[in-house]
Amino acid sequence: MLTLYNTLSRKKEEFHPIHKDHVGMYTCGPTVYFFAHIGNLRTYVFEDILKRVLLYNNFKVKHVMNITDVGHLTSDADEGEDKMLKGAKREGKTVWEIAKFYEEAFMEDMKKLNILMPDIKCKATDHIPEMIELIKRLEKNGMTYIADGNVYYDIMKFPHYGVLARLNLEDLQAGARIEVDQSKKNPHDFVLWFTKSKFENQEMKWESPWSVGYPGWHIECSAMSMKYLGEHFDIHCGGIDHIPVHHTNEIAQSEGATGHKWVNFWLHGEFLIMDKGKMSKSSGEFLTISVLQEKGYDPLDYRYLCLNTHYKTPLAFSLESLDAARSAFQGLKNKIIEFQKNKLIESSHTHDSASGDSGTHNIQLMQKYKADFIEAIDDDLNVPKALGIMWTLIRDKDLLDSEKLHLIIDFDKVFGLDLNNVVEKIIDVPIEIQKLVDERQEARKKKDFKRSDELRD
Ligand SMILES: [Zn+2]
Repeated sequence: MLTLYNTLSRKKEEFHPIHKDHVGMYTCGPTVYFFAHIGNLRTYVFEDILKRVLLYNNFKVKHVMNITDVGHLTSDADEGEDKMLKGAKREGKTVWEIAKFYEEAFMEDMKKLNILMPDIKCKATDHIPEMIELIKRLEKNGMTYIADGNVYYDIMKFPHYGVLARLNLEDLQAGARIEVDQSKKNPHDFVLWFTKSKFENQEMKWESPWSVGYPGWHIECSAMSMKYLGEHFDIHCGGIDHIPVHHTNEIAQSEGATGHKWVNFWLHGEFLIMDKGKMSKSSGEFLTISVLQEKGYDPLDYRYLCLNTHYKTPLAFSLESLDAARSAFQGLKNKIIEFQKNKLIESSHTHDSASGDSGTHNIQLMQKYKADFIEAIDDDLNVPKALGIMWTLIRDKDLLDSEKLHLIIDFDKVFGLDLNNVVEKIIDVPIEIQKLVDERQEARKKKDFKRSDELRD
């Protein structure tokens, strides 16, 4: 039985999809104005694990992810600069060029981390009519007001406002900050549609019933998730930083429009912590996947590091911890190579050693490992425990290497460490070539680069 921690109830709950065997899952995507830092990417690795665990449980998953290419200001609360414009100014490009470039860079990072691609990847700028329709519904339901040209969401019209973040409406009013937008009735009201851009040269503008303008950030996720997954779906996720504002506002918009429950399960991934607190684009400490590669790491070393910490625990990052992950991951790959070689030997001895008793014993042992693995991943994605089970299995003297290999490759459907590729690489290399590779490595170790170059040639 799969259980997941639901932020909405602050409890682990048994997961049952709304429609038998089919799961609708929405994950908040990137704002494409700069490279993703590894802290952001931790969230996408967590969501990938969630999706893989659902698939491992034989659910069919429809996964939708948005690409924010308009309307996201540097603060979640309608303040600060427009992120896209900021990127364009920095690089002397148009906002459209910036969006295209960084969307591609993001997808490249996803691939490097072996993250399964969403079934639907939707851009905010392709869904302006859907957002306008949703704002019209909210307007019809009396949940909006216009002030200073902008269309605002009136949170006092939505009695459940802040339930996800456990916000208290009275506190929200009393705790109003001083520097708030004077047009707002309540400091937590938020913009659905900007008609008066706070910024000059806003390049992205559309016609609307409230005159030319552009959408607030939060509306895209409500509009696009409901378009592709329906008005009531199973799972919505993101980083924990999305709980107090972005996801809170998404719920207000969606349920304010439909009048009924929108999402059953909310899952949130914890931060990556650097020495100087949360890693973010503004803190100056800026590590991307490409930077890690320049330092000689494989992106999957970083994935392996992420798997070692439960998604609800902050991950303390340092290059030392990444080194440790890299060497453990290398150890795993070496084991696979060893098992693969032994498997070939084992299969040539099959006729001699296949006695009935040990066969049954091994099948039961394999089933036990598989059951332990499922128990771990189904317990709110306890991947660190699942990794531990794999390492115990690797050291188990009662199993044949071919049996171990079989289980590891099966578990990797969840880990996503591309271990199958390690196996294929061995199979693909003819023995004569492998000999040359080994000899060359030997030569390099002895710093005999002349010999090493000859062997390479
Ligand atoms: Zn979102």
